Amino acid sequence: MNKAIFLDRDGTIIIDKEYLYRPEEVEYFPWSRQALEIMQNSGYLLFIVSNQSGIGRGYFKEEDAHKVHQRIQDDMKSWGLNIFTAISFCPHTTQQKCKCRKPEPQMLIDLIAKYDIDPKESYMVGDKTADVWAGEKSGVTPVLLQGQSKYLKGDEKLPKHTLLYENLLEFAQKL
Ligand SMILES: [Mg+2]
Ligand SMILES: [Zn+2]
Repeated sequence: MNKAIFLDRDGTIIIDKEYLYRPEEVEYFPWSRQALEIMQNSGYLLFIVSNQSGIGRGYFKEEDAHKVHQRIQDDMKSWGLNIFTAISFCPHTTQQKCKCRKPEPQMLIDLIAKYDIDPKESYMVGDKTADVWAGEKSGVTPVLLQGQSKYLKGDEKLPKHTLLYENLLEFAQKL
């Protein structure tokens, strides 16, 4: 079985610009590249699992999301890294009550089955409570990047065994 790290996109790998849809606006945290390198060198398959409700809200098209993801995969290649094994995103709004929008775990559940992943050896990393709950519900270890989050108020209810780190590099260095 494989081990994997499921990564949120906005606020985790790239700076959260709220409903970003232009590839040229993709901007990484200064430590993202090194962190991704460490994760791959540690033998993890890497995935992106992202809520993109801007599609359901009509702010941009699914095709725009694919272009942003192509840019990210191109950057991985130019850094000498393997591309993300898969990039999953939920296009729905909260009102659509789908099973894929985090904190629901369906995106992870599907990837775990498809890529023969051992949840016990795997992590879900993000900057919001929705990310850690999606991780918890799918059986992987949830990781919250406190120092990267614009959204935490400090009184959030988190899964009991959530791992807390300042940023993605700090997490990667503890693998
Ligand atoms: Mg995020
Ligand atoms: Zn969805």
